[in-house]
Amino acid sequence: MRLLLVEDDPELGRRLSERLRGADFAVELATSRSEAEDWADLDRMAAIILDLGLPDGDGIDLLRQWRDARVNTPILILTARGSWQDKVEGLNAGADDFVVKPVRFEELLARLNALFRRQQGARSNAIEVGDLRLDPLSRLVEQGGKPLSLSRQEFRLLHLFMRRAGQVLSQADILDDLYELDSERELNTVEVLVGRLRRKIGRERITTLRGMGYRFER
Ligand code: CA
Repeated sequence: MRLLLVEDDPELGRRLSERLRGADFAVELATSRSEAEDWADLDRMAAIILDLGLPDGDGIDLLRQWRDARVNTPILILTARGSWQDKVEGLNAGADDFVVKPVRFEELLARLNALFRRQQGARSNAIEVGDLRLDPLSRLVEQGGKPLSLSRQEFRLLHLFMRRAGQVLSQADILDDLYELDSERELNTVEVLVGRLRRKIGRERITTLRGMGYRFER
């Protein structure tokens, strides 16, 4: 899952990106309002973490602008401004959650996961498709009740497939979810990874649609 982190404090931006990567997210960092404003593929982000006090403007204005432009990505405000008026303003402007700095990373992560659950209309973190069950928090995968051992990238790919079961995902969709823009992105990485995952969960689970991409079967 890919996140956009809008944070101008270099130290906090670096530490938070590192922790989020450790929790299996691909993280893009924007350090100013104008940089965030220019981001093209916001709808492909799993969520946006938005600071309010930015050097070249207010995060609230950016949030309003995005919502006016029908950007539907979940947005979590992470700010030092903690008055009830700020919270009301932020939530009313279209934020899905409002977190005041400083915050424990564990709480931030729990709030992000709650956002994803809400977006999926789910109460539990685990996703089930057919005989497969994946829990993104414990990182446990079971097939027919038996634990399945997956590499980190295989796990990420399966998580994406299960979230989007029945939909066609292009290689670009998969790369976008798994890797950051400036990382090594090669299309044959996807082929290799799909091949490895197929060997573990069964070939028939993932259909190749020539020239279009892959579909994870329900
Ligand atoms: Ca700031």
